[in-house]
Amino acid sequence: MGAVLVLNQNYEPLNVCNPRRAVVLVDLGKAEVLEVDGLVFRSPSREIRVPSVIRLHRLVKRPRPRVRLTRREVFFRDRYTCQYCGVTTRELTVDHVVPRHRGGVHAWHNVVSACHACNHRKGGRSTEEARMPLHREPFEPRATPRYLFGQYVGVNSDWDKFLPVIDE
Ligand SMILES: [Zn+2]
Repeated sequence: MGAVLVLNQNYEPLNVCNPRRAVVLVDLGKAEVLEVDGLVFRSPSREIRVPSVIRLHRLVKRPRPRVRLTRREVFFRDRYTCQYCGVTTRELTVDHVVPRHRGGVHAWHNVVSACHACNHRKGGRSTEEARMPLHREPFEPRATPRYLFGQYVGVNSDWDKFLPVIDE
């Protein structure tokens, strides 16, 4: 069975549900069908074209999504560039600017991408002690369209026109 893209009332993609759930939402008057796929549900009493995109009638309010702190997202934020020497590489480590044993936290403003050589050179020292200034102060990245909706791209061609353009 296929999957159904669920749009918020403002057309922003919210999540994906299974076709049965989508049909229930439509039956309850909570959503409208924007796209159908070729499939049909048959029961003794009715035939239902299976939706591929539905839109909720009410706006679902969500807290501002935050980007999870993972190695992958740290490297992506730093554009795969060592924040100490500036080399661009896929061979990166996550460095704590203020080392953890000095009370440095594992948070966006204290983690940077570092190549193996720089990570080794810096060791357990602070940037001042190691005389290794940062190229850029680390920051918490915004949840971009790629982060929010990238997982839905390329899943179903019916969905594409409802997804924001992802140009990163
Ligand atoms: Zn480096």
